[in-house]
Amino acid sequence: MKSGISSGKAPVKKVAVIGSGPAGLMAALFAAQGGGQVTIIDTNEHTGRKLLVTGAGRCNLTNADVAAVRYACDNPVWLNEVLLQFSREDLLHYLDSIGIPTFATFDGWYYPVSESAHAVADAFDAALISLGVEKMLRKQVTGVQPTANGLNVLLHRDALSFDRVVIACGGKAYPAMGSDGSLHGIIHGLGHKFHPVNPALAPITADMQGMQALQGIRLDADVTLKQAGTAIGKTFGNIIFTRWGVNGPGVMDLSYLVHAYSTKDMGLEFNLLHRHEAWLRYALLNEAGLNLPVRVLVQSILPPKLASFMLSLVNIPADTPRSKLSAGQVSSLMEQLTNFQLTVTGTRGFEYCQVSSGGVAVEEVHPETMESLIVPGLYFAGEVLDVVGPCGGYNLHFAFTTGAIAGQGAAG
Ligand SMILES: Cc1cc2nc3c(=O)[nH]c(=O)nc-3n(C[C@H](O)[C@H](O)[C@H](O)COP(=O)(O)OP(=O)(O)OC[C@H]3O[C@@H](n4cnc5c(N)ncnc54)[C@H](O)[C@@H]3O)c2cc1C
Repeated sequence: MKSGISSGKAPVKKVAVIGSGPAGLMAALFAAQGGGQVTIIDTNEHTGRKLLVTGAGRCNLTNADVAAVRYACDNPVWLNEVLLQFSREDLLHYLDSIGIPTFATFDGWYYPVSESAHAVADAFDAALISLGVEKMLRKQVTGVQPTANGLNVLLHRDALSFDRVVIACGGKAYPAMGSDGSLHGIIHGLGHKFHPVNPALAPITADMQGMQALQGIRLDADVTLKQAGTAIGKTFGNIIFTRWGVNGPGVMDLSYLVHAYSTKDMGLEFNLLHRHEAWLRYALLNEAGLNLPVRVLVQSILPPKLASFMLSLVNIPADTPRSKLSAGQVSSLMEQLTNFQLTVTGTRGFEYCQVSSGGVAVEEVHPETMESLIVPGLYFAGEVLDVVGPCGGYNLHFAFTTGAIAGQGAAG
C-alpha cells in the first residue's frame, strides 16, 4: 500500500469511522492523510480506550513473526494479501512517525519504548487532533443505511450523512471497554454473512477438583487440546493454574477451539517438562553421581510445589533416593509429567477474553481496500472481521493493518 496523500483534484470524501479502538484510530488517521474529511465516533468518553488495557498496560503492538499462517482465518490467501499490503516495517515506521518508537523483546514481541499503553493512546489522540479529525464521543451508533449518494450513520434519532463509512466496532471481547457487538446485527442486516461470535484468547475452565495445590503455579509448557483423545490444537507457552482452570497465553491461544468444537470429552494435556524430558529421564535412571532424592531432581526443572504435587499423584514419597525408584515408578512419573491431563469445561467468556472469534466473512471484503463487496462505500477493519491471532501482538497488528488499508481506501 502506498502512502496516501490526496492529489487535491478529487472531491473531498466525508468519511465516518465507527469505533476508536486501534483499527478505528488507524482508519481515521489514514483517511485524513488521504485527504478525507473524517469523523470518528465512539460510545466511550475517550479514544483508544481498549488500548489502555493491552499487554497488561504495556501494549504489545506487533510481532516479528506476523504471517497469515499464525492466524485462524477461513481464507489464508485473503489474509496474506492484506498483511503484505501494510507490513510490520510499514507499521513500525508509521508508529514512529506519530511518536510511538518501539523495541522488540528477545522472542520478537514489540512494545512501545515507553512501555506505556497510556502514552500510545495519547499519541494516537494527538495525531487525530493534528490531522483535524472530528471526534464524536459518548455517541452510540444505532444503524448504518445506504442512501442514493452514500451512507447514513444513525445515532438514535439523528442521521448523519457520509460518502464512506468504516466500521471498526470490534467484537464482543472485554465489553467493559465498549465493544459489545451492538452493531453486529446491523451489519448482518445490510446483507453481510456474519459468523457467530465467541470468546477467543480466553482463560480455559477445567475440572479442578483435588487440584487446589496447583493454584498460582506458573510455568512454560507444551499444551495440547484434545477431544475424544484426538488432538485439535497444540501450542507452547506460559500457563498459570487457577482455582477454576488455566490462564496464560499457553491455553488462551487454544481457547477459540473450545467454542468451535463441543466440550464433550474435551481435555487439556500438558507436557510440563517441555525440552527437559530427556534430561530428567536420564537423571532418574543414571546410576552415577549423587544418590539425590527424587524431589530434588524433579524440582531442578519444575517449581517445588508442582514437583511435590506430581510426585503425590503417582504415590512416590518425595524423599525417595533415586536408586530406590523402580523402573515402573520412573515410567509412571515421566508419564504424569509429560501427559498431565485436565478435563475442560469451557472458557471464562467474553468478560475475560482478549478477542472474540467470528464476525464479517472475509470473502465479502476486498483485501486491497477493505471495502464491502456487498455495500459500496462501506469498509471494515479490525476485530469485527472473522480473523483471530494468537497472543503476542498479532491482534493489534491485524487491527492496525486493516485500519490503515480501510482508511486509505475510504478516502481514495
Ligand atoms: C485485556 C486485553 C489485553 C490485550 N492485549 C493485547 C496485546 O497486548 N496485543 C495485541 O495484539 N492484542 C491485545 N488485545 C486484543 C486487542 O485489544 C484487540 O485485538 C483490538 O483492540 C481490536 O481492535 P478494534 O479496533 O478492532 O476493536 P476494539 O478495540 O474492540 O474497538 C472497538 C471500538 O468500537 C466502539 N464501538 C462498538 N460499538 C459501537 C457503537 N455501536 N457505536 C459507537 N462505538 C462503538 C467501542 O466502544 C470500541 O472503542 C488485548 C485485549 C484485551 C481485552
